[in-house]
Amino acid sequence: MDLGLTGKVAVVTGGSVGIGLAVARGFAAEGVHLALCARDASRLAGVADTIRADYGVRVLAVPADVAVAENIERLVQAVQEEYGGADILFNNAGTGSEETILSAPDEKWQHYWELHVMAAVRLSRALAPLMIPRGGGAILNNASICATQPLGYEPIYNVTKAALVMFSKCLANELIPHGIRVNALNPGLVRTPDWEKTARILTEGKAQTWEQYLQTIADDNAPIGRFAKPEEIADFAVFLCSPRASYAVGSTYYVDGGWLRVT
Ligand code: NDP
Repeated sequence: MDLGLTGKVAVVTGGSVGIGLAVARGFAAEGVHLALCARDASRLAGVADTIRADYGVRVLAVPADVAVAENIERLVQAVQEEYGGADILFNNAGTGSEETILSAPDEKWQHYWELHVMAAVRLSRALAPLMIPRGGGAILNNASICATQPLGYEPIYNVTKAALVMFSKCLANELIPHGIRVNALNPGLVRTPDWEKTARILTEGKAQTWEQYLQTIADDNAPIGRFAKPEEIADFAVFLCSPRASYAVGSTYYVDGGWLRVT
C-alpha cells in the first residue's frame, strides 16, 4: 500500500530509541524527512546519521528537553529554518513513574504534566499553524494503555497519560476544520531498552533471568503472551499519520496484544 507520505516532514519527539526510533525509521522508509529530538545529543546524532545513510532522507537532530518550554521554542524554530514547516507531529517523549499519591510531592506531578501534556500542547500550538498552509497534516499523541487501565505503581504516569488522551480529543475537534487529524495511541507492553534495563535491575542476583521476568509480565498481562516489538507500534503509527487514514479523527487506538480488559 502506498501511504502517500513521500516528501512529507515529520517531527518526532523522543526519536532516539524505543518506539520513537522505530516510528522515525518507519517514516523514513516511506520517504518522510525528519526532525528528531531527545536530550542525549550524541545518541541522537548517531541515530540521525544512521537513518540518513539507511533511507536517504533529510534528518534534523535537535537536542531538546520537551518538558522545558524554551527547548520547544528552539525545536520549532529549527524545524521552521530547515523545512519551512511540518506535516506530521508524533508526540512520543515520555517515561514511567513510580510513587504513591500520598508520598509524591507537587514537583513530581508538575514535571510529568510538563513532559506528557504541556510538551504536546506547546508543540501542537506551534506546529499546527505551520501545517495549515501545507494543506493540513496529522498529530499523533503517544499515550499508553495506562491512560484508561492504570498500573498501581505509577499514578502520576496514569493521570498525565489520561490527560494527554483528552487533550488529543479536544485538539482533534479544534483542528479538523483545518485538515489536521489528531489521534492518540495507547500501546501496551512494548519491549524497549528501558524495559530490558528495568528487568535486569529487578532480577540482579535472583534465580529468574531478566528475560524470564519479562515473559512473566507478558504472560500475566497480555493475552497475546509477549511484548510488542517497537516496529509493531510504528507500523500502526505511520499508517495513522498517513493520508490513507483520512477518516481517523479524534480517536484513541489500543495496540496492546489484548491487554485492555473491556468491562
Ligand atoms: P524509551 O525510554 O525507550 O525512549 C524514550 C525516548 O524519549 C528517548 O529517545 C529519550 O531520549 C526521549 N526522552 C525522554 N524524556 C525526554 C525529554 N524530557 N525530552 C526529550 N526527549 C525525551 O521509551 P519508550 O520507547 O518505551 O516509550 C516512548 C513513549 O511510549 C513514552 O511516552 C511511553 O510512555 C510510551 N509507552 C511506552 C510503552 C512501553 O511498554 N515501552 C507502553 C505504552 C506507552 P533521551 O533520554 O536522550 O531524552
